Amino acid sequence: MTTKKGFTTSILHADRLGKPEHGSLHKPIHTSVTYGHEDVQDLVDIFQNKKKGYAYSRQGNPTVTALEQKVTQMEKGLASIAFSTGMAAISATIMALIKHTDHVVASSFLFGNTRSIFQTYIDMGLNITFVDATDVENVRNEIKENTRLVFVETIANPATQIADLEAIGELCAQKGIIYMVDNTMTSPFLFNPIDVKAGLVINSLTKYIGGHGNALGGSVTDTGLVNWTVYPNIFETFKKQVKPETLGLTQIRKKGLRDSGGTLSPEAAHSISVGAETLALRMERCCNNALALAQYFETHPLIKKVFYPGVKSHPQHERAAKLFRKFGGLMSIELDESLDCLAFLNKLKLVVKSSNLGDTRTLAIPVAQTIFFELGAERRAEMGIPETMIRLSIGIEDLDDLMADFKEALG
Ligand SMILES: *Cc1c(COP(=O)(O)O)cnc(C)c1O
Repeated sequence: MTTKKGFTTSILHADRLGKPEHGSLHKPIHTSVTYGHEDVQDLVDIFQNKKKGYAYSRQGNPTVTALEQKVTQMEKGLASIAFSTGMAAISATIMALIKHTDHVVASSFLFGNTRSIFQTYIDMGLNITFVDATDVENVRNEIKENTRLVFVETIANPATQIADLEAIGELCAQKGIIYMVDNTMTSPFLFNPIDVKAGLVINSLTKYIGGHGNALGGSVTDTGLVNWTVYPNIFETFKKQVKPETLGLTQIRKKGLRDSGGTLSPEAAHSISVGAETLALRMERCCNNALALAQYFETHPLIKKVFYPGVKSHPQHERAAKLFRKFGGLMSIELDESLDCLAFLNKLKLVVKSSNLGDTRTLAIPVAQTIFFELGAERRAEMGIPETMIRLSIGIEDLDDLMADFKEALG
């Protein structure tokens, strides 16, 4: 049933198909840390990857599995692993697959904490090159003999640059390099990275998929496009134990999730699963709200610049229109110098002054003073981040109310 039905129908009925007790419509929250087995051979087989099952919840839990299956279904992948946060998913996946003798190419427009963990990996001896990934040529120029992985985001935050997703996918496919795409900003409703040949897909489940700002989570999905049998860093032990297509995720689950301990709690998995049921509805609504607001901001004399892929002035507008179902819920605006950024924000009554994004509520944050503060003014200028930039994560409120709040604050 799941493969033939639409996006939302499939998620709504996913748990029921697993036939949970009493006909429950939700997968129960399994709180047990460990699992007992009648025959110890079963436990041995689970340890040796010969049998599916649960041993210790740090590396697997039935409630979390139910969410992993939904993410896989949404991303049209082979299988997924959930983590405690998006950052745990990214850091554990890289840790599990990359050795210090390897080279990684990453977009220079990255979520701040992803940039920060990559810097930590550099400090530990890994070779990572950052490039402007809006043009595939910049990526191609940095590919070396030992380049194992290319990492990009779909829509970057806060300036909304869009990576050259299709062309980089072609390049990675030609060269046999793992293409890892962080799909958080678009979510699997707007875009599936498998369609541009991504091998691994990251989602921060905290954002649009969970969607209500009440649970942290992250995931990595194997799309099935990586040939793990020729990937040089797979442990010999795993090669003897599991099917070739599951080698990558086996290594990420064991070496990444198990060893880092970035485990998603069953309670959070349940909240995120419930949130995921309405992903399509929420995305439709917040994207429509965002587009209407962006068009209003574009005509306003006190707003110098709008960063939103949905407006024609955006440098990658055509690319976004071709690849994504809609243009997303995130935008940034640059205020006229005559306005004080913080004073303007304080005039907003409905919009919440807060970090995070992908909430049902509209959130606003001054960029230079908060999420990009650590970088300093010089790096911000290099990255094209104006000092009066405000990042907006548009929610699902009634558009008239949002419009009125911004009009009031600008008036
Ligand atoms: C928020 C975010 C992350 C990290 O996710 P957490 O769940 O907060 O750890 C990673 N990538 C992108 C693009 C994000 O927006």
